Amino acid sequence: MDTTPRSVTRLIEEFHRLPGIGPKTAQRLTFYLLRAPKQQVEQLAEALRDLREKITTCALCQNIAEANPCTICRDETRDHSIVCVVEEPLDLVALERTREYKGLYHVLHGAISPVEGIGPEDLRIKELLERLRNGRVHEVLLATNPNLEGEATAMYLERLIKPLGIRMTRLARGLPVGGDLEYADEVTLTRALEGRREV
Ligand SMILES: [Zn+2]
Repeated sequence: MDTTPRSVTRLIEEFHRLPGIGPKTAQRLTFYLLRAPKQQVEQLAEALRDLREKITTCALCQNIAEANPCTICRDETRDHSIVCVVEEPLDLVALERTREYKGLYHVLHGAISPVEGIGPEDLRIKELLERLRNGRVHEVLLATNPNLEGEATAMYLERLIKPLGIRMTRLARGLPVGGDLEYADEVTLTRALEGRREV
C-alpha cells in the first residue's frame, strides 16, 4: 500500500500535468518544496493564485495583461498605425526584447492547423478585423512562425486583409524554418524586423 500522504501525491500529480514535466521531475519538485522555507512555498502559491485572478485579456490586442487595455495598447509613444500579428504572447515578448519594434501587436492565440483541428474561427481573427476597420492602422506586419501552420495563417490573413487597402508586410526570411519565433535570438529577430518585406 502506498503510504505517501495524500497532499504529497496530489502535488506530484499536479506537477506531472504540466508540459515538459515527467513523473521523476514532478516528484523532485514536490520533495524540494517539502523541505523549502515556508515563505518560499507561500510565495509560489500566491504567484499561482495571482496568475488566474489578476490576469485578463486586453480587448484590443488580445494579449494577456493585468490591465485592459494593456500597457502597450495604452502607450501613446508607440506607433499606433502599425500592428504586428503574432501567434502567442511569448512571440510578443521575443519581439519586445529586440527593442526594435515600436508599434502595436495582435495576438492570435494559435495558428491555423487542419491536423490539430484549429480553424480561423478558433483564433482572434475577428477581433483583428474589427481593429483594422477603425481606420487608425496603416500597416499589418505578419510575424507568424516560419512553419507550415504559421505560413497557412499568414496566407489566410493576407487574403482577408489585403482588400481593406492596408499595407501588409512580413518578417524577412532568415528565421530558422520550422522554428518558433519565441526561441529566435535577438539579432536574428532584429534583422527579420529590419528587412521586413511587402506582401
Ligand atoms: Zn493590448
